[in-house]
Order: sequence, then structure tokens, then C-alpha cells
Amino acid sequence: MCPGLGRATIAPAGTRPPDDLSTDQTAVLGKGIPSQMGPNDDERDRFAHSAGGHATTLIDLAEPARRIVALTGAGISTESGIPDYRGPGGVWETGRPPTLGDFRENAATRRAYWDGRRDRYPTMATAVPNAGHAALVALERAGRLLAIVTQNIDGLHQKAGSDPARVIELHGTTHTIRCLDCGRTQPAAAVQRRLIAGERDPACSVCGGPLRAATILFGEPLPAAALRGALEVTLSSDLLFVVGSSLVVNPAARLPLLAKRAGARLAILNRTPTPLDAEADVVVRAEAGSTLAALAAALLAGGNDERG
Ligand SMILES: [Zn+2]
Repeated sequence: MCPGLGRATIAPAGTRPPDDLSTDQTAVLGKGIPSQMGPNDDERDRFAHSAGGHATTLIDLAEPARRIVALTGAGISTESGIPDYRGPGGVWETGRPPTLGDFRENAATRRAYWDGRRDRYPTMATAVPNAGHAALVALERAGRLLAIVTQNIDGLHQKAGSDPARVIELHGTTHTIRCLDCGRTQPAAAVQRRLIAGERDPACSVCGGPLRAATILFGEPLPAAALRGALEVTLSSDLLFVVGSSLVVNPAARLPLLAKRAGARLAILNRTPTPLDAEADVVVRAEAGSTLAALAAALLAGGNDERG
């Protein structure tokens, strides 16, 4: 079980009444985005688009939600300069996905992986969270967001200030290095120093086993604890909010339907269509950062009184 992800340790989201938006604000927000954000009519239309044919907007849907679970993918990190969720050592730098067996057996595979990582990890290490990550932090601190389930390995949710106990990394993290034999973990920065010093196939200093980032490789099962945690929060949510994921990689692609079956609403914010758009209560085709920022601002406007 992921530390901190059990029912006993995740507090229920806040119970702020749903009537704390003024009539004026609601009139504006019915269009989807506060007018000061300056969207054009086309953006407003996209923001308000509902796949189910209902007159519901994203804000209408999120307003009563108190146990939002955000399912985030690469699209929330592109505005932070992260080109692909696989990150250093992934497909986009090695040209082909290494399998676990290939990685274990072939020093050449490992050298290619570490060569790529030496050059590209600094970009991941210094990436800065964007307005989308910040908006989810704001929703969490207001008691509206139960958890984030992410396909990303970049650690930007935690860097933005999300409670690490509420961030479930389905595909692991690029910021931790793990020994394939003894399981010992260490910060990526320590291994990065060895790469820069000239090592091309760094081995575990305890057992001599092969090292790699604590991310999943192709054909590898997802971390069981993360999967259990993701299922648990999904089934506890009242709104499953997909952000920046095309929902084509399982099991993340299955979580929205499980949430729906358990009674949650489903919102999808993604630049491109997804296979689950027809199942969603609201679909928004837009960039994650500005849309999430507008949503959080709208939901939290004047809503801090219960905590004061
Ligand atoms: Zn080891």
C-alpha cells in the first residue's frame, strides 16, 4: 500500500456549500472561463462543450464536487517543457522502448539508456511546474481535491506543492534510481553525478546489480501499491477529472469508467479527442494550464471563509 493513501489517512474533502459563487460570477462562469481570462468565443464554446449533450459546463460539474480525483497525463506537463511522459531514458530518446529483459541482459542497451539520461535528465530536474499544477495545489488546499493519479514521471505535482501522500505515480518517478537486484533506491542526482564523471553503465554500490530509474519499462506491470491506491481513490471520488491524458494507456484508461460506474461524474480536459469522450459529462478541448487556473479561480473565489 502506498504510504498515506489509505482511507484512514486521506481526510474527506471539505464540505463547503455549493452556493458560494455570487450570481454575477455564476453568470460569467456559465460561459466556462472568467471574462478576465480573455477567451475568445471559440474558446468559450470549447470550454462549455458537453459530449453528452447536456448544458453543463466544467465549472457547473466541478462546483459541487468535494472529492475530485485528477488523472493527469503528459498534457499537463508540456507547458513546463516536458516533451513526453516517458522522459529521460524513454522512447523519445532511445528510439525504441527497452524491455526489462533487454535492459538486464544487454550492456549496450543500458549504456544507450544512461547516455540519453545523462544528457536529458537535467531538463527534467530543472523543469518548473506551471499554472495547471498550481491550480491542483489550490484545489487540494481548499479541501476539494482528494488525490492526483498521474501517468507522469516528472515529479512536477510534488514540486508545485501537492501533498506527496496524495500523488499516485502510476508509472513511477524519474527522480529516484533503483537497483534491479536488491531494490535499493537513491536520488537520481547521485547517479547523475556518476554519469557526468564518466560512468556509462553505473552499478549498484551495494550488490553490483544494474540500476535504472524507478519508472516502468515496456511490458512491465505497474507498481502494485500505486495501482491499488489509484483504484481506491478513483472509487472514492465524486468527480474524476482527466487532465492532459489521451486515455490510450492502460490501466489509466480504465479508471474513468470505474469511477463512472461507482457514481462519479467524469470530466475530460485534453487537447485531442479521447476514446472516452462519449462517456464524459463534460469534454474540454484546451490547454491544461490556463483552463485549470481559470477553473480553480472560479471554484475558489470567495471560498476561503470556512477555513478562516
Ligand atoms: Zn543492489
